[in-house]
Amino acid sequence: MKVIIDFDGTLTAEETQVQALSEKALNTLAHEIIGAPLEQLRADYAATRARLLQAPHLHGWRVNGLLASYCDEGAFILNTSTLQAMLGENDSYRAAVNLRFADAEYDPVADCTNHLFHRHTAEIPPAFRPAAPGVLSQLLDDPERTPVILTNSRADKVLGQLAVLGFERAVPVLGDTRQYDMDPAWEQAFAHPHLGGIQVWPIAGNYAVDLRRPAYHRALVAARAEEPRVAVVADTFSLPGALPLMMGIPFLLLRTVYTPQWCAEAVAAHPLGRVLDDLAELPAVLDTLPLW
Ligand SMILES: [Mg+2]
Repeated sequence: MKVIIDFDGTLTAEETQVQALSEKALNTLAHEIIGAPLEQLRADYAATRARLLQAPHLHGWRVNGLLASYCDEGAFILNTSTLQAMLGENDSYRAAVNLRFADAEYDPVADCTNHLFHRHTAEIPPAFRPAAPGVLSQLLDDPERTPVILTNSRADKVLGQLAVLGFERAVPVLGDTRQYDMDPAWEQAFAHPHLGGIQVWPIAGNYAVDLRRPAYHRALVAARAEEPRVAVVADTFSLPGALPLMMGIPFLLLRTVYTPQWCAEAVAAHPLGRVLDDLAELPAVLDTLPLW
């Protein structure tokens, strides 16, 4: 079985890193991109973050006009969502970002937050969850299981941080997989047991997860072509979890301090979904997956 494991927040305690990440991002915005006082950006960030958290079901990380994730699903996602809202809603900030990211791959605000994320997460020292080294080495030693790290971060950052753990064998890393790469024109639909072909998965409590993620879909199809038995493990739901479940791939959600209740409920309600309360449970919970 190929066990695809998310990096940030799953193997690492991103809740302990996010403050350093946001401070670095605000510094770069103040001194290199916007040219506004750092104190002003800090105040705007705090006010925007508080406003998003008052109605998290209305806010999130948007790419190409589609919702990639609700804002409160992860600590890094809340940082990205806060920066996007703060930059997008202020005319002078947006003008500065438009100028600097004029050749945007997505839109200037999304490219700006991607740039800040990739640059500054690479500068933050690793903060592995206590169970991460043991679980990874157990999977590496098991001839029936192949761990693969699949991440939105750059592979070089993840390889550098994994090197700190000192494994003799390299853990394969699929970096920059872009679970957030949303395409409104993508026509692929997924079979829902009750609703038929869907592109957006409606979830109890007025949540809905958009499945139009062609880059992530390609990565999962390629993984399954190499090894038919695949499972995905991650700390958030909308970005890495909903699409595998709708493709018939088991998804294991690591419940963290920031995990919204509706995410854990949606995963627990799916026959191929499992919720872990500690990363240490991973090897044993993999044994509970149906054989196919
Ligand atoms: Mg994560």
